[in-house]
Amino acid sequence: MPTLLLATQNAGKVRELRELLAPARWRLVTPAELGLGAVAPIENARSYLDNATRKAIAFAAAARLPALADDSGLEVDALGGRPGVLSARYGSPAAPTDAARCALLLRELAGVPPARRGARFRAVVVLALPGDRVVAREGTVEGRITLAPRGASGFGYDPVFELPDGRTLAELGAEKQALSHRALATHAMIEVLGALAGAPSHTPGDLA
Ligand code: IMP
Repeated sequence: MPTLLLATQNAGKVRELRELLAPARWRLVTPAELGLGAVAPIENARSYLDNATRKAIAFAAAARLPALADDSGLEVDALGGRPGVLSARYGSPAAPTDAARCALLLRELAGVPPARRGARFRAVVVLALPGDRVVAREGTVEGRITLAPRGASGFGYDPVFELPDGRTLAELGAEKQALSHRALATHAMIEVLGALAGAPSHTPGDLA
């Protein structure tokens, strides 16, 4: 079984990626397991693709292993696509927690009617292979920003992001893993990993 390094120091992402990549026949390792704690490339906020590519290449070079990284964010139409690649740092330093960032977003959108609160989560997953070869896959989920937070699961902007069926991502529980932007991008990458490992690892139709 080939080995894949999960190029992130974020324990929450490692947990999500381990779950999402379970169907891929790759042995998953983390930077901590390899003693690679110091590899932390700067996210320059140019694009999700750029950030994820830098992370994947840096970790692949340090470990001499194929490495997988992701970058993601929330794009709000009424804010011209903000916070976008800056989602993790939105409102910094005055809004240091997820709850504070959600509250700031709702304040920025005060008075904007539901029909104009369209938004999407976008995730880009990049696989870096020896020889500086990279493969990227993207996933998006469309929705809109609520008038108030709802739901207790998930993280980040989940309580203020409503799907077309009216539920927020924070009200989905485990179901989020089937339809999130990160899940869609990662499922697409499983096709790539399956082809590289030379064995089918994903059943077409699982994405539906
Ligand atoms: P990064 O991908 O680690 O740069 O983080 C992007 C930021 O976007 C996160 O810190 C969250 O604030 C937000 N974000 C990305 N994906 C999600 C999600 O699935 N739910 C809620 N917020 C998210």
